[in-house]
Amino acid sequence: MHWPFVVHQTYVRRTEIHALFGGQQQGGISTPRAAPGIFIFTGHGAGLVGYKDRYETDGSFRYTGQGQVGDMRMVSGNSAIRDHAADGKDLLIFSQEKRGGLVRFEGLFSCAGWEVERQDGMDGLERDAIVFHLVPLRELEIEAGDVTEAPAPAASLPQLRKRALAAAAPASGKQMSPAATVFVRSRDVRDYVLARADGVCEACDEAAPFMTANGRPYLEVHHIRRLSDGGPDDPRHVGGICPNCHRRAHYGEDRGALNVALQLNVDAAEAAQEASSVGS
Ligand SMILES: [Zn+2]
Ligand SMILES: [Zn+2]
Repeated sequence: MHWPFVVHQTYVRRTEIHALFGGQQQGGISTPRAAPGIFIFTGHGAGLVGYKDRYETDGSFRYTGQGQVGDMRMVSGNSAIRDHAADGKDLLIFSQEKRGGLVRFEGLFSCAGWEVERQDGMDGLERDAIVFHLVPLRELEIEAGDVTEAPAPAASLPQLRKRALAAAAPASGKQMSPAATVFVRSRDVRDYVLARADGVCEACDEAAPFMTANGRPYLEVHHIRRLSDGGPDDPRHVGGICPNCHRRAHYGEDRGALNVALQLNVDAAEAAQEASSVGS
């Protein structure tokens, strides 16, 4: 299954977004309880501080968090953005031209990190503002991996797992490149999940359908809790599966059951990893 929003198409916020998925109908950050996503609104009329938001030259988006006066704190909507990968939530950005108008879907993003910056609040007084670095995701591209790339330098499964677990948590401070940060973290998750699967689909238990040109069994990485793939996630909720099971996990009539069964297999594999890391 996928989000029903098309990049650069416009939507009526209340009836076409919140009526379907829930979430707060006002304000810049909407955190629906039941849907696997966080809706971010930017631009005039959406967040009152939204006039500061902008794309950087590397394609990442600077988004000023929630809180109109006084120092912003890393709570509610702000912490939801920071923790979206660990929580298994997609980040969807919508921009608004004028107050009360249609919103335009900008796409799916991942939080590379954030920094604290001095900005004026609505009362004209300078305060600490949280500025997030959000990177657009090119869905599935990163997940299947560049099959022509050389195999990663040999690392043990526990080493790969440690890196992958850390990848779900973005850090504060200025990144060299937000896009590169997200790419590396996403690759850390992928490398570990594929090493854990070890050439056998974690959904159907069959061997990978073919070997890639560089001699590795071909499997894809599927984010179980989210609607989209791409970007970092907690590897305890990501499966390494064959392309057939992957299509089924998104489009199959039985996709709900398949994702539940896959999560159980991943739970078992993770319990084994956990036990061996404690034992070593
Ligand atoms: Zn399979
Ligand atoms: Zn998937």
